[in-house]
Amino acid sequence: MRAADVIEAKRRGETHSRAVLGGFLGGYLAGQVPDYQVAAWLMAVCFQGLSTQETTDLTLLMAGSGDVLDLSRLPHTVDKHSTGGVGDKTSLVLAPLLAACGATVAKMSGRGLGHTGGTVDKLESIPGFQARLSEAAFYAQAERIGVVVTGQSKDLAPADGLLYALRDATATVASPPLIAASIMSKKLAGGAQHIVLDVKVGGGAFMKTPDEAEVLARAMMAIGAGAGRDVRALLSRMSEPLGWAVGNALEVTEAVRCLQGDGPDDLVALSLSLAETGLAAAGLGADRTKLEEVLSSGRAYEKLEAWIAAQGGDVGALGRLETAPEQHLFRAERGGFVAELEALAFGQAVKVLGGGRERKGDTIDPGVGVVLHAKVGAEVAAGEPLLTLYHRGRGFESALELVRGAVVITDARTEPPPLILKTLSP
Ligand code: URA
Repeated sequence: MRAADVIEAKRRGETHSRAVLGGFLGGYLAGQVPDYQVAAWLMAVCFQGLSTQETTDLTLLMAGSGDVLDLSRLPHTVDKHSTGGVGDKTSLVLAPLLAACGATVAKMSGRGLGHTGGTVDKLESIPGFQARLSEAAFYAQAERIGVVVTGQSKDLAPADGLLYALRDATATVASPPLIAASIMSKKLAGGAQHIVLDVKVGGGAFMKTPDEAEVLARAMMAIGAGAGRDVRALLSRMSEPLGWAVGNALEVTEAVRCLQGDGPDDLVALSLSLAETGLAAAGLGADRTKLEEVLSSGRAYEKLEAWIAAQGGDVGALGRLETAPEQHLFRAERGGFVAELEALAFGQAVKVLGGGRERKGDTIDPGVGVVLHAKVGAEVAAGEPLLTLYHRGRGFESALELVRGAVVITDARTEPPPLILKTLSP
C-alpha cells in the first residue's frame, strides 16, 4: 500500500492490518516514507484513533525496532512506570522495597523533561553514581542484588524516539493510543514480565481527569495482555507535589528518609500500594503489614545501599547530598487552610531554577528545588513558613512568582482528595 493510501485510509477512519502498519513504519525507519507523510498519518490518528489491535500491533513494531532486553532468566521481574509527576520519587523507594521482597527490578529509566523529573537525574545527584552500565554489568547486578537502574539506551525502541520527536513538533502528542503505544513499546522492550503503571491524574499530570487517565491505563493494559505481559495500573492524584521535596538531590534525600521509616504519608502510601500491586502480579503477594515491616526493619534500606554501591554511588553521602547554598523561606501571606499547591507550577519553578530541562541534552543543577512545609489541608498562620526554595540566584525571581501563584489559602478547610483513585487489574 502506498503511504498516501495509508494516510487516506486512516483519515476515513479505517483500521490498518498489521502488515499495512508494518509496511508504513518499516518504510519510515528505512527512510522511504518521509516525515511529512508520517506527520499527516499521526494527525489522522489523533482524530480517528486506533483500535486495540492496531495499538498493540504498533507497539510491538516499535518495541521490536531496536534492542529487546531478555530478563527471562531472572526471577519475578517487575517494572514500574509513572506517566510523570512532580516530586515523584516513588521508583527510588519502590525498587529496593520490591527487591527486598524477592522481586527483580532491572529497569531502564528516563530523564526528566519539561516540568516532570526523571529517576536517572535523581540518581545522578548521588556522587559517583553510574547510570551507564554495560549489558553484562546490568544483568550481573540484577542477578546479584535484584535491583539495577540505568539510563534508557537509545537503541531501546528507537522508532518511539523518532515518532515522539515528530509528535512533539506537530502537536500530535496528546492521543491516548499514541501515548499508550509510546510508553508500552519501551516497557515491552525493557523485558519485565510484570508491569505496574502509575497513571497520574490532575493539574500536574498529562491526564487531567480520572476518565482520561482510565482510558490511557486500559489502553496500556490491553497492549500488555496482547503481548503476554501482566500489566496492572493505579490511578493516582497529581494535583499537589508528591511528598515534601521537588528537585533531584532533595528528592533522593526524601526517598532515603522514607526507606529509613521517616517518609511523608503520601509517598509511603503510594509506594506501598505500587509494591503490593507489583508483588501480587509477580506471584509474591505481600500484604500491607509485611511491606510495612520490610520498610521499618531497614531491609529495604539495606537493598538501596547495596544497589547504589554496586553502581559506584557514595553510600556515605546519601543522607547529606549537596543542595544549593541559597535558601529562601516563603511564608503564608495570610492565615487559613492550604487549599491548593498547584503541582505544575512547582515543577516549572524547579525547572527555572535550573533543576529541569527545556530540551533533551540540557544540563541540570541537582541541588536546586523546593521543600514544602505544609500540604493541602494544613492550617497555617499568617507569616508561617510554607516552603523553602533552594537556589543559586538563577531564575529565582521567576520561581518565586510561580510559587506565589501556586499557593491558595482559604478560610474553610479543604480535604485533600484521595491519593489513589483506582486500582485496575487484568
Ligand atoms: N511518555 C512517553 O513515553 N510517551 C508519550 O507519548 C507520552 C509520555
